[in-house]
Amino acid sequence: MGRVTSLEDLPLREDLRGLTPYGAPQAPLPVALNVNENTHPVPDAVASDILDDIAVALRDVNRYPDREFTALREGFAEYLGHALSADQIWAGNGSNEVLQHIAQAFGGPGRTAFGFAPTYSMYPLITQGTGSTWVAGTRQPDYTLTADEAVEQVLAADPDIILLCSPNNPTGTPLGLDVVEAVYEASRGIVVVDEAYQEFAPRDAPSALTLLDGRPRLAISRTMSKAFAFAGARVGYLAADPAFIDALRLVRLPYHLSALTQAAAVAALRNADTMLAMVDEIVEQRDRITATLEALGYTPHESWSNFVLFGGVADPKATWQSLYNKGILVRDVGIPGHLRVTAGTEAETTAFLDALASIESAS
Ligand code: PMP
Repeated sequence: MGRVTSLEDLPLREDLRGLTPYGAPQAPLPVALNVNENTHPVPDAVASDILDDIAVALRDVNRYPDREFTALREGFAEYLGHALSADQIWAGNGSNEVLQHIAQAFGGPGRTAFGFAPTYSMYPLITQGTGSTWVAGTRQPDYTLTADEAVEQVLAADPDIILLCSPNNPTGTPLGLDVVEAVYEASRGIVVVDEAYQEFAPRDAPSALTLLDGRPRLAISRTMSKAFAFAGARVGYLAADPAFIDALRLVRLPYHLSALTQAAAVAALRNADTMLAMVDEIVEQRDRITATLEALGYTPHESWSNFVLFGGVADPKATWQSLYNKGILVRDVGIPGHLRVTAGTEAETTAFLDALASIESAS
């Protein structure tokens, strides 16, 4: 049966009309560097360890899984350190779902969510999906943010939820903890620090986890999609005050984390050292991308993540298409004169840099 109507004719919520769904292209190209995945596969030894645990869990899938995903929360508490305990941990099917739980619990009609644009493209979609109003603040031309200007904007917007992406996607920009502290002090709402890419930051860069103590409106979200090379498994998590976690319990669907997801994630965490072994190599490729882009006449922005946003692209759409035609997928994030590329394996990174050099489109 074909399509019998169009979206305009359905009784859709008014506030969803005109929105565009998330839609990063999923083209089957040989070199996919467009959604900041870890392009290294899960190591074989770890994969078989994870499979063993999934096999055990499969024998019990006639029963609902542990609704409180206790073993997984304990695993995340141990991995994060900072003396965290399992009652301070939450998890979901990707950190997108964790952020959605926050928006469901603390946002909604008549409430606002705020972030400093350009930032993660799903923030407006996730928050608007719950009926919240999205308000975008601004950054310096180099995408940095000072505590003073952040506070000024937060005071003006007076939001219910503040999303601080650290390091920021799509720019890679680090965020000082002084900004987080100042924003927290100046606000009355929930402050979320999204540390999806934290593992790619310098080792001595402190996490906002160090600020959790005594700040019940603060939450730090993380994901296994990036450093852990687990994007397809869909596992994200956060750390916050136990009362904050109780709020998220009100909105999650029962048994939202499948038994297979829980088993896979617990086994992956048990192998965290091996899973994270490629982080240094990825950081090396990221820095190589930055240095080579500079040499080619582009203007890469400082990145503490596994991707690089670079300016000086005369015609981003044309360069994106030329790379696509050579089998390389990067991201046009809609910032004029810019493209974003994920650090791949050494071979993928070389393929990207060689292809870009052959295009010669720096403005
Ligand atoms: N936060 C940021 C900043 C991201 O870039 C992403 C993924 N691109 C996510 C959250 C969501 O990741 P996931 O749902 O895979 O955990």
